[in-house]
Amino acid sequence: MNNDEEITAIGPESEQWISQYENVYTHAFGTPLRVMDHGKGMRVWDVDGNEYLDFLAGIAVNSLGYAHPKWVKAVSEQAGKIAHISNYFASVPQIKLAEKLLEIAGAPEGSRVYFGNSGAEGNEAAMKMAKLYGKTLPGGDPDHGGAPARILALAKGFHGRTMGALSATWKLSIREPYNPLIPAVQFVETGDLDEMQAAFDQTGKNGVGPVAGVMLELIQGEAGVRPLDPAYVKGVRELCNQNHALMIIDEVQTGIGRTGKWFAFQREDLSGGIIPDIITFAKGVAGGFPMGGMIAFGGPLASLFSPGLHGSTFAGGPLATTAGLTTLQVIEDDGLVANAEARGRQLREAIASCGNPLLVSIRGRGLLNAIQLSHPCSHAAMNWALDRGLITNAVAPDALRLAPPLIVGSDDVNQAVSILSKMPFDLPDD
Ligand SMILES: *Cc1c(COP(=O)(O)O)cnc(C)c1O
Repeated sequence: MNNDEEITAIGPESEQWISQYENVYTHAFGTPLRVMDHGKGMRVWDVDGNEYLDFLAGIAVNSLGYAHPKWVKAVSEQAGKIAHISNYFASVPQIKLAEKLLEIAGAPEGSRVYFGNSGAEGNEAAMKMAKLYGKTLPGGDPDHGGAPARILALAKGFHGRTMGALSATWKLSIREPYNPLIPAVQFVETGDLDEMQAAFDQTGKNGVGPVAGVMLELIQGEAGVRPLDPAYVKGVRELCNQNHALMIIDEVQTGIGRTGKWFAFQREDLSGGIIPDIITFAKGVAGGFPMGGMIAFGGPLASLFSPGLHGSTFAGGPLATTAGLTTLQVIEDDGLVANAEARGRQLREAIASCGNPLLVSIRGRGLLNAIQLSHPCSHAAMNWALDRGLITNAVAPDALRLAPPLIVGSDDVNQAVSILSKMPFDLPDD
């Protein structure tokens, strides 16, 4: 490899701080790649002053890039006004953000929002609501001779790291160390309607409870950005309808404009046009401020959360919801959902035609994409790009995720593709 190219290899400041990190922080996240200092728009700088073009956005979080002036102003002003009050009180940004989310989701009359602080918390809320719902199904109430209602989740699905969300997260290496988790979550093969039908057909046999809900991502993000077949998604909706089960769509990664619509379920080519019963959201919603939540579609479902049945001290506070409201406002005013669609197309076309045999293909929608690599070298590929000033993500052993901020411009896409297209074929396997 040509050393002249390695313009942003790790510097002494990052190395020093990382050695201190290793002495104080748990090893849950492994060794950090760099220590970052500040960002502006599409770019971020490390403590050595190296500049990076960001095609990860803090894992599909920084919708507006770094330090967007409207976001900084709104959050700063809100911090100087009132930051936290608990859910004994409400705040205007909280109410406005809930109204805005119901609007962009096209949620029917009676629908309601619940706010949490992360994607996992959004999914916890959805799973708790599904549990309450399951008790209303025939044979689904253990207190009255029934069996616990089940939640079906998909192979390769990811829903978060808290105990509930983890129960529905497929990957054995991250789930198994914590067994036993929630018992009534059952995994089915992704894309196999017969297997899902069979899971529904177990209801009432050998004391098996009904299915309260099916939980799924329309693009399985952590599995390597794998879109579901819309015909399968429609089939799942039909099975849910026939069996009175909830369809819970985890839009934590796909939501808030990322896939070229406000929500992935609004894309025919992902959902087949179905309407979900619950969606969860988080990552991109507040432009980098920790926030998540769920929307229950329709009044009967939403009313299952009566006072006292769920809650969180921080959730939906004025600071987080101001960040969320401003993020949605800028996305709308600046046409960033359409930009996600256009720049995503540009990115996929440019990668597909760049002629580098390492980059076999690219899949995704909008600005949630992954490059299929010819061999399992994604960590080497990520590091190679990082050393040349481009942040990407080794999402699977043989796949590199590209999820830039929604503000990404045409020139940024060209610059990223120009770096990626030069990646050498002989990168070592991880
Ligand atoms: C990231 C993610 C989560 C978990 O979100 P956290 O904020 O990390 O708790 C859940 N579901 C999906 C689809 C995600 O991509």
